[in-house]
Order: sequence, then C-alpha cells, then structure tokens
Amino acid sequence: MNCIALRHRLHQHPELANVEVDTAARLVEYLSPLSPDNVVTGIGGTGVAVCFGDASAGRTVMLRCELDALPISETNTFDYRSVVAGVSHKCGHDGHMAILAAVAQHYASNRPKTGQVVLMFQPAEETGAGAKAVLADQLSQQFKPDFVFALHNVPKFPLGEVIVKQGTMCCASRGVIIRLTGKTAHAAQPETGISPLKAVHQLLPLFEQLPQLIDSESAFTFATVVGVKLGEKAFGTAPADGEIYVTLRSESNGEMERLVELVSNEVAAVATAHQLSYAIDYEDVFDATVNDEQAVNIISAALTDEPVRITPEPFRWSEDFGQFTRLYRGALFGLGAGEQTPALHNPDYDFPDQLIEIGSRYFIKIIEHCFNQNVN
Ligand SMILES: [Zn+2]
Ligand SMILES: [Zn+2]
Repeated sequence: MNCIALRHRLHQHPELANVEVDTAARLVEYLSPLSPDNVVTGIGGTGVAVCFGDASAGRTVMLRCELDALPISETNTFDYRSVVAGVSHKCGHDGHMAILAAVAQHYASNRPKTGQVVLMFQPAEETGAGAKAVLADQLSQQFKPDFVFALHNVPKFPLGEVIVKQGTMCCASRGVIIRLTGKTAHAAQPETGISPLKAVHQLLPLFEQLPQLIDSESAFTFATVVGVKLGEKAFGTAPADGEIYVTLRSESNGEMERLVELVSNEVAAVATAHQLSYAIDYEDVFDATVNDEQAVNIISAALTDEPVRITPEPFRWSEDFGQFTRLYRGALFGLGAGEQTPALHNPDYDFPDQLIEIGSRYFIKIIEHCFNQNVN
C-alpha cells in the first residue's frame, strides 16, 4: 500500500479526539515493516512516535501530525468516503499522517547517519488537549528534539505554497461558558423571581468592545458569541437560568490573559448587580502557536527552491502545536491546498493527495538542513 492508499484508508475510518485507537493501530501496522529504530505507542493516550536514527549521533528533529477527525457528516461520494456516521476527516489530518508516513519511507531506505528523526502522531488536536497530554507523558520525555516542525494544509492558497511567519503563526483561542442563575417565577408575577435576561442583555454588547477595552492593536483580538440560552419554552414560567457561549481569540497569549480577566471581572460585576449567581468555565483552550526565529529561518533556507510566502498575518484559527513550541525550538507552516479546495471543516472538504509528495519533500529538506547545516 502506498501513502495515498494509506490516506484513503485512514479517511474511510475516521475517529474522534482521544479514541483514535484503530487509527494508531493502522499506522503502526503500516510503519512497522519499515523497521524503525524505535516505536513508542500509547503516548498521551493514543499517540505514536516512530523514530529513525540515533539521537547520540547528532540533532533530533521531530515532526508532529494529528490523529483525530471531526464530528462532521461527510457529503462527498467518492469510494473512500467515511464509513462512520457523523465523523469524518475534515481538517486533513489523514493527509498530514500520510505525509509523515512518506517521510518514514524515505528514512527507512536512507537511514539518518547524523541524528534522529522522530515522527510524532499526536491525538486530540481538535480539542486542544492532545499536545498537552503527549508532552506531559513520561513516554515523550525520552525525546529531546533540537527542533520540532509541523504543517497544516490551508485551502484557498496555491497548491504546494508554503505560508510562514516569525512569531505567532496561529492565534490563541478559548471557549467561555458563562452560567447565570437567578430564581424562577410565575410569568404573571415575574417581579417575584430573578431572571438573567437583563444581565444577558448587558453582557452581549460587551464582547464586541473587548479589543478596545484591553487596548489591543491587533486585528485578531475578538470575541464571537456562538450561543445564548435563556429559560425554556414554558409560557407560565419566567426563567432562572441563562447561558452565554463565547469564543475569545487573540494574537498573543498575553492578550488572551487580559481578555479572560476582563470577561471574568465583567461577568462578576453584572451578575452581582442583578443578584444572580454565576459560574465561568473554559473549553477548547488553545495557546497561540508561536514560531521560533531560528526554526523559521531553517524553513526559509531549506526551501529556497520552493514557493515560500512570508506572511505578515497569522492564521486566525488555533492549533495546539503551540504547546510544542513553548518547550522546543520549532515552527508550524501552512501548506497551500489549492484555491478550489473547500475550506477546512466544511462537509465537502477532502485533503488533496498531491500534497503528500509535496509535504514530505519539504519536510525531508528541512530535516536534512537541520542535520547538515551549522544551525544553532
Ligand atoms: Zn481542524
Ligand atoms: Zn487541523
């Protein structure tokens, strides 16, 4: 089976975050015949690391990709469409895995002589939990990468174009759940209860003003109200419970801290003023993915013969690869997936197979540069 067939097989059998058991097993089955120098499974849950070469012989370069699919029903009709109802690979992680498998094939027949290549297949990227779990696991601590790289395919950019920048490559984001609780009342006597309606009404416009309120200059600081819930369809009852769901986004981790602090202060003030109790929870917490200067320079220097676009703007979306670049020198770059390819997470999206050869070629050039050039 070649890497395109592997990608199709992974696409057909997608698994959600944290339960990528069969996906991990399929990868091990596919890669074991290449006789890697080390295979470690069960990292941070279902994570798998496949290594070629010897860390004591030189630098260790880690590449990271993701195992998980999304809770989206696929609308494509090709042969290898998802056979799992309501789950499909709509972020192209099947393609990212196939790219690392192609890199593995290369190093199986061209064993690294001056270092080690670690291919890290990480679980649960979409929830923001997988990278943290992998890095917290003792099993991953045997690897001491000098550099770590990842790519993400990006529709609407020319096929094969590299999109990269210094500093923040992907924004920080987090989901905020605000719960307000008052007291129910008969709808004929609402004044005897405490409805969260006025507090919700007061809080919603606040989110639009957040960039000004924290004095952010960045165009990437904003809050999106993704849901509001108040009471029930019960016409005799004035509500006691209200919930607001908001996604916060920022270019830097510092701005995210200020947003979170401001939101929690405002919610406390408004809830108290309306005699409501409240709770604030967070889900899908992603730090900014901040690229290391040296790692970005390596990408530029290694890919001088390839189309590389240095972009001034980060991607608005988030990636948990930022956890790796907090610990190690590293960088994530975008890989153009073609102008006609549907957007990520769309139900008709599919990873372009041509990118498997292109992405693996770029990664190999980057690894070789790390091994052979005098980079510090
Ligand atoms: Zn995604
Ligand atoms: Zn993704």
